[in-house]
Amino acid sequence: MTSVHIVGMGLAGALASWELLKRGAHVTAWDDATGDTSSNVAAGMITPITGQRLKPTWRGQELMEQASRTYEDIERHYGVVLRRDWRLRRVFRDAAMHDWFRRRFDGGEFDDYGVTEIHPGECDGVGYPYGGMKHGNVVTIDIPTLVRAVRTSVAWTSDPGPTSAIVDCTGYRALNDPLWSWLPIEPSKGEILDVAIPGLGLDEILTNGTWILPIGDDRYRIGATHDWDDHDPQPTEQARLYLLESAQRMVSQEIIVTGHRAALRPSTKFKRPLVGRHPHDHRHYTLNGLGTKGALQGPFAAAQLAACILDGVEPDDEINISRWHQ
Ligand SMILES: Cc1cc2nc3c(=O)[nH]c(=O)nc-3n(C[C@H](O)[C@H](O)[C@H](O)COP(=O)(O)OP(=O)(O)OC[C@H]3O[C@@H](n4cnc5c(N)ncnc54)[C@H](O)[C@@H]3O)c2cc1C
Repeated sequence: MTSVHIVGMGLAGALASWELLKRGAHVTAWDDATGDTSSNVAAGMITPITGQRLKPTWRGQELMEQASRTYEDIERHYGVVLRRDWRLRRVFRDAAMHDWFRRRFDGGEFDDYGVTEIHPGECDGVGYPYGGMKHGNVVTIDIPTLVRAVRTSVAWTSDPGPTSAIVDCTGYRALNDPLWSWLPIEPSKGEILDVAIPGLGLDEILTNGTWILPIGDDRYRIGATHDWDDHDPQPTEQARLYLLESAQRMVSQEIIVTGHRAALRPSTKFKRPLVGRHPHDHRHYTLNGLGTKGALQGPFAAAQLAACILDGVEPDDEINISRWHQ
């Protein structure tokens, strides 16, 4: 039986473990987390259209189908609930965003996503000075529950003895490891607020770049910031004010902050995962670079990793780490 040791049990480590266990490998794992990590503060949102330019996400449909299958399998296997379906309303921030919408909408790029336009003005108590859009096909994944569930199936040890393979899933901290410091990871700090907004009664995700995500009763999460310069994983007053001001532009009710967390995402400029075998030390593999789209891209990347370890199949060219090693 192939034995694999996973170092780092966030979303990447848990999905890698799941794929390997499913295919009959013996999996040991270890994580030395002491504070918040990207995986335990993430909102776990999967949206098919992202950014200022409202671009349909890379391989969106294909990756979404694979992700849905994987999360449903995990839900069934462990008897947990991970997925929740949403509709999302987006407030355009400026005229340029409205122009991008027009171009893509008229060009048929949104045809698969059930997008409808919101005309400038007020809609359901929210102001849309430049208009907006509404669509479904948005999902959130409860990443901490997923990690806790998969963890019950692996043998937990920092010293697994001889194994066939070691997989590094250490997120941005891979940059401190001489074996992996060449990976093109650019940590991006994200901060997120837990809040109460009495009287808002929102049952969809509302976003103007900053999103408000309902979590039950009057409670919501507001996020997230992106900072590529600050690598101190502590919450900042600056981010708190930024998130509150952005959210308050969408809703008139008072926002009461009940929690504030921060972590570093293992982002990359090219927004693709990083998967493969170390070019020199052939017992070592990695799954990293999940960045802002980990919930969507993770299942695809983990399946590619498992095929690489167990069948010797090279990962897809677009995510294969071999292209980054000088
Ligand atoms: C505020 C915020 C909001 C986000 N929202 C979303 C979202 O809505 N949708 C989405 O898809 N993504 C979101 N993300 C990104 C998401 O969190 C990541 O894509 C994903 O969780 C990264 O998982 P990972 O396992 O690669 O990294 P991590 O979560 O960083 O996990 C790495 C693990 O490795 C461990 N580790 C590191 N070094 C060692 C070592 N030497 N030995 C042992 N263990 C080690 C760490 O303790 C950690 O547990 C968000 C992130 C943040 C910060």
